Amino acid sequence: MKRELAIARCGLACCLCSKNNWCGGCNSEQCPDKAQCENRECSLKNKISHCYECTQNCKKGVLSKIKPYGFTLFVKRYGVDILLECLERNENNGIVYHRKGLLGDYDDFDHVEELIHFIKTGKR
Ligand code: SF4
Ligand code: SF4
Repeated sequence: MKRELAIARCGLACCLCSKNNWCGGCNSEQCPDKAQCENRECSLKNKISHCYECTQNCKKGVLSKIKPYGFTLFVKRYGVDILLECLERNENNGIVYHRKGLLGDYDDFDHVEELIHFIKTGKR
């Protein structure tokens, strides 16, 4: 885990991303999806650093997917440091962020509260 890369504007975990050996995160200008990222554009326009700082319950762009939406909601509730601590502990316990392409153990949820419980406890 590259903890210093933390969380992208949209809620994806740059710190655990399989592309982070060459991408320095969404403010690094290296993100391959930068040009078409609705969350990046909207958060910049709203002058906030991340969607987790936004007051809206929004499912625009990448937030339509449960993983970044759940991570964003988690940070709104508990803060980014707690999220990073949980992600690091879970990784050390064998939970994989990108197991198959861009999908991994945090994607396999239908309900956001179940995902938040999994982040917190490492258990399904
Ligand atoms: S590809 Fe996207 S999620 Fe991965 S490190 Fe780069 S900005 Fe972060
Ligand atoms: S409105 Fe949605 S996309 Fe825009 S900053 Fe807020 S959470 Fe992010």
